[in-house]
Amino acid sequence: MEFPKSGTAREAILEAMEASRGDDARWREAKTWSLVYNAGDDVLQVAKDAYLAFFSENALNPLAFPSLRKFEREVVGMTMAMLHAPEAAVGNMTSGGSESLLMAVKTAREWARTERPEIKAPEMLLPASAHPALEKAAHYFDVKAVHIPLGADFRADPTEARKLFTSNTILVVGSAPAYPQGVIDPIPALAALAKEKGVLCHVDACLGGFMLPWCEKLGHPIRPFDFRVDGVTSMSADVHKYGYAAKGASTVMYRTRALRRYQYFTYGDWNGGLYASPTMTGTRPGGAIAAAWAVMKYLGEEGYLRLAKQTMETTRALMDGVAAISGLQIQGEPEMSVFGFTSDSIDVFVLGEEMGARGWKLDRQQLPPALHLMVTPAHAAIVERFLADLRECTEKIRETKPTPEGAAAMYGMLATVPDRSMVPQLLLEFMDGLE
Ligand SMILES: *Cc1c(COP(=O)(O)O)cnc(C)c1O
Repeated sequence: MEFPKSGTAREAILEAMEASRGDDARWREAKTWSLVYNAGDDVLQVAKDAYLAFFSENALNPLAFPSLRKFEREVVGMTMAMLHAPEAAVGNMTSGGSESLLMAVKTAREWARTERPEIKAPEMLLPASAHPALEKAAHYFDVKAVHIPLGADFRADPTEARKLFTSNTILVVGSAPAYPQGVIDPIPALAALAKEKGVLCHVDACLGGFMLPWCEKLGHPIRPFDFRVDGVTSMSADVHKYGYAAKGASTVMYRTRALRRYQYFTYGDWNGGLYASPTMTGTRPGGAIAAAWAVMKYLGEEGYLRLAKQTMETTRALMDGVAAISGLQIQGEPEMSVFGFTSDSIDVFVLGEEMGARGWKLDRQQLPPALHLMVTPAHAAIVERFLADLRECTEKIRETKPTPEGAAAMYGMLATVPDRSMVPQLLLEFMDGLE
């Protein structure tokens, strides 16, 4: 590749970019089941307008743009109200769920360094189903990740958690819900364990933070998961998921201001000036903060309730439809709008390929093999078409029993390697070869 010598006209650039989209996942037709949370064109337009209006602003310096400071304070304030945080709670916006979780783990490590100086090799307990961003945090911050095994219902088993708790444990994590099967971990039991032992407890509500509160209001049976649970010391909730904001928007919240101080980074000896930064990133795009604020204001509780109702009805229809297809089974009892399904008679990875050939992009899961649906309001329009294709593909595979090819072969192979320690190396080769 050569660096372009001269510039290109604006129209030609836009044309070239549009032409690049050819093989992209077709989220506008509601063919995708992850990555894009679509609440309709009106919401998208509000997010885009707000993003563009604050396209150039930067929340790095908290004094330069009081507008962004207000938006961030209010996004966090609204989110904390939704999650029943106590009056004294505080929080920040981050670039996404991963950064929020990185901050929660970093905060716990710093807290332990001060409050539990005898701990030299800190550990955290997290469900085996917890999001890999927590593994990333463990890796980055040198906190040992100890997995709580799941029960038959795919929820972390609190009895096992107690057995795994050691004098080095500084943090207990639960998900609300966990991404793979959409079930909420037993947060009261996990938080009680943390409180009894005098350590911290984080609830990863990155996925459910902007959905579960509305489900509860709509009368769905939702297990306790938020700041109302005694012992929960921090939470994360992504505005760029079921908050329908522009990407680059999440929140991390702490029960007390004292706890959040461990998150902050300050440096006083730089010849470029005094430096203070609340989260991981330096420059923080104003657009993402502004769009989050705008969408939350635009929808309000009534808007989110309407979207949650539509999403939950769509989820119900999809779950009933999947369960009615002979050979397919829903995993566990999903409580929200994400679920996995598996099969006792066909290779679900081959099913994923067949559906892919029809334009449906389903995420693959493993341990055990499954396919995954993350349902949004936009999926209401395609329920019947999706289920018809799923039924046809399932029947076809049962009859023809094709040998796995492509991604199905790779997933099938990776799902069954006897030595799991080889998998990260294989993934590294894959990433390294990707250009
Ligand atoms: C999406 C997700 C995350 C990570 O969020 P990103 O915005 O992708 O970084 C963390 N936890 C759960 C449960 C999630 O679903």
